[in-house]
Amino acid sequence: MRILITNDDGIHAPGLKVLEAIARSLSKDVWIVAPETEQSGASHSLTLSRPLRVRKISTRKYAVDGTPTDCTLMALTEIIKGAKPDLVLSGVNRGANLAEDVTYSGTVAAAMEATLLGVPAIAMSQVLSFGHPVKWATAENHAPPLIRKLVKAGWPRNVLLNINFPDVIAESVKGVRVTTQGQRDLSDLVMDKRVDARGFPYYWIGFRREIGLPEPGTDMDAVAKGYVSLTALQLNLTDEPTMAALKKAIR
Ligand code: MN
Repeated sequence: MRILITNDDGIHAPGLKVLEAIARSLSKDVWIVAPETEQSGASHSLTLSRPLRVRKISTRKYAVDGTPTDCTLMALTEIIKGAKPDLVLSGVNRGANLAEDVTYSGTVAAAMEATLLGVPAIAMSQVLSFGHPVKWATAENHAPPLIRKLVKAGWPRNVLLNINFPDVIAESVKGVRVTTQGQRDLSDLVMDKRVDARGFPYYWIGFRREIGLPEPGTDMDAVAKGYVSLTALQLNLTDEPTMAALKKAIR
């Protein structure tokens, strides 16, 4: 099995090392193509207004000065010669990609791009608590057996998988739950206004860091209860239930 790994936290991220270990436990043929710098929140963006540079770091390891989507695209169309990868793994992201996070996530987008190019892909994220060390061993221990089962079973061509590992030590994980993408009551994002040395305002987009009461069956609910969350995502965003109402409205 040929595996491509990428991420949105960048080529130097600890989560990429963790993902490399996961991938190497599954295959000897592992390729790494990751962004030069952190791209969290890059979503499915492409770099179109400047050229892209590829830096070879070592055998089968490259950095691209672009987005996670650029990395997947570059890897699958240019860098990896010969056989196309059988699997793309993206992550392991430093922090959750649950509910609406999915729409901002560069980690998930790298997997989306692979899916669009016909390669099965899995996005993986390690949930964390702010101010505490990231429990990387949870993802590292629980990912390989789960990925083996998923690869054996397979999944549809236009679908990608989103896995979140709970913020508990590996030994405390209760199991794996197949979940739906959740929805937060309130946006998790807040605008943090500050003042610079000359008195001018500037802003940081920050996180509310509050945990609401998640709906049962959702990704948020699973990780809150100590389960690994496994969600199947599709790229087609059409809301079919609304179609009939729209047809009626424009009559
Ligand atoms: Mn990230």
